[in-house]
Amino acid sequence: MNLTQNLKWLRYRAKWYLNPQLHLVSKFPTHLDIETTTACNLKCTMCPRTQILKLGKPYEVKFMELNLFKKIIDQSKDRGLFAINLNASGEPLINKDIAEMIRSHEGGYAEKVYLDSVGVPTGGWGHAFLVGSRIPLPVATALFDMDFRTAIDDYNSFNLDLCENRKAVIVDMLFNLGIVRFKTFKKLIARIHARDFSGAADEMVDSKWYGQVGKRAQMLVKMMREDRSYKSIMEV
Ligand code: SF4
Repeated sequence: MNLTQNLKWLRYRAKWYLNPQLHLVSKFPTHLDIETTTACNLKCTMCPRTQILKLGKPYEVKFMELNLFKKIIDQSKDRGLFAINLNASGEPLINKDIAEMIRSHEGGYAEKVYLDSVGVPTGGWGHAFLVGSRIPLPVATALFDMDFRTAIDDYNSFNLDLCENRKAVIVDMLFNLGIVRFKTFKKLIARIHARDFSGAADEMVDSKWYGQVGKRAQMLVKMMREDRSYKSIMEV
């Protein structure tokens, strides 16, 4: 969390605790309880809803319209609102619009990962990218395909005109390093342009990357130096 985000968080918590004690009223609520539905399929004993039903008091089951929810969020987000809670006396997951409500609350689809208000890397529709987060296989496959296509596009941007085996080496390095770091391998790129593949292999060995990626680097160096395929090395 950076300094601005830390200060924002502290301001939020300070308002939460101090405003009631000092009898201060903000221009706009710090926190909103938004009741998206009064429906629930349970009857927990401690729930006021259960008690109302038990006593036979009138209780109307309603669902908030998505447009109303969006209107509340649109009117609140730039006025000092820090947090929302999506239930009061109902089970919000019963509302068929709940997924779209949350998407709308997250401010729409974020194509790029950004740091949220408390410093958590976030992307898509409010997805937190945390160490230990689960990545389902279809998502991992889509990410791999995207990164692989990027590596191929990056390779094509260099106009290296290599045979398949050596092309595979550079695509692998671009996938692993990204184009910005790969461009720092200036001597390697110059050797390839000069068609000096043994020298290019030497440049790969003479880099920090070679020590960092272990066997992967040794294999790629062999492929570059000897014009060997990945499979021919694996089969030995
Ligand atoms: S609203 Fe919540 S607490 Fe009340 S009955 Fe439903 S699940 Fe239980």
